[in-house]
Amino acid sequence: MKALIKDKNEAGLTLLEIAEPTIGARDVLIKVIKTGICGTDLHIYEWDDWASNTIKVPLTIGHEFVGKIVELGSDVKSFSVGDLVSGEGHLVCGQCRNCLAGRRHLCSFTLGLGVNRDGAFAEYVSIPESNVWLHDKDVNMDVAAIFDPFGNAVHTAYSFSLLGEDVVVTGAGPIGIMSAIVARHAGARNVVITDPNPYRRELAKKFGVTLAIDPTIESLAEVQKKLGMKIGFDVGFEMSGNGTAFKEMICNMAHGGKIALLGIPAQGYDIDWKQVIFKMLTLKGIYGREMFETWYQMNVLTRGGLDISPIITHQFHFSEYEDAFKTMKSKESGKIILNWE
Ligand code: NAD
Ligand code: ZN
Repeated sequence: MKALIKDKNEAGLTLLEIAEPTIGARDVLIKVIKTGICGTDLHIYEWDDWASNTIKVPLTIGHEFVGKIVELGSDVKSFSVGDLVSGEGHLVCGQCRNCLAGRRHLCSFTLGLGVNRDGAFAEYVSIPESNVWLHDKDVNMDVAAIFDPFGNAVHTAYSFSLLGEDVVVTGAGPIGIMSAIVARHAGARNVVITDPNPYRRELAKKFGVTLAIDPTIESLAEVQKKLGMKIGFDVGFEMSGNGTAFKEMICNMAHGGKIALLGIPAQGYDIDWKQVIFKMLTLKGIYGREMFETWYQMNVLTRGGLDISPIITHQFHFSEYEDAFKTMKSKESGKIILNWE
């Protein structure tokens, strides 16, 4: 089969012909139809410090996908050949206290598909039955391919009650925008998103955010005045990994405000802890999705008519992966899909 592989300790990827993955008794083999490119894949492509310290070559990368089951391990009970599925990319240990208590998203020994084991940027991928999500037959295939990052957004957004709240999202990358869409859908009053990148702000505006602002030109204090807000934002989603964005957020939260942080900072930064303490803010880190409650919620949201498909701005054949990664790097894109059929 063809697979996109990190085969050298340097930037770039190679399209290689390799053997199809073998499956164990509790695994399924999936013929990949579409994959989404994640920021993680770009880190691996570029071979930054995180990637070179984490990835063991050779590795087939990629974890956002939709495909069809073509083979079942001998002990697989819950799925059939032909099922349309995606995979939860976090493989948990199943043995630690959190796993045993059913809190699998809090497993301390999570392994990542396409990070710690061969992933989905290939014609076939093998995953354990316990990581398979079965889609409805009529699901939008492009949306199904990005259930993983959509799940990051849904997990973040549904961390706190949103009905009637004023929400600020820092970072209008694909996941930030999807979290803003979900906040709108969940009944937030104002949803303000910030990003210095004009392409990303325009993309966010297509989804009906209240305001998409350039934080280098307009402060959140000015935005509050413009919207007639008096005491600050009730809920914040930090989706940029940028320290300046987070500091601006905590300065503009209401007392008792709640913040979910998904953005991964490249370096540590200081914040004004007095703001957190005297305003009695709640901070919650978000990693991945809840298994499988977030997947269930995504299914309900999409069936109910929430259409996130305009977040997908580019599609490429897998053989055009260099163009796809170049587009991703330009930040003039939403989600990018690689087609494998
Ligand atoms: P992205 O890099 O495409 O988007 C981040 C956006 O933040 C960019 O558009 C950038 O212009 C913007 N930004 C930079 N500085 C800013 C500032 N000062 N104020 C406001 N915005 C600013 O990333 P994405 O794919 O949308 O993912 C969002 C973040 O979540 C990234 O940091 C990513 O690494 C992280 N992530 C975390 C998880 C998790 O499980 N915790 C999973 C996936 C991605
Ligand atoms: Zn565990």
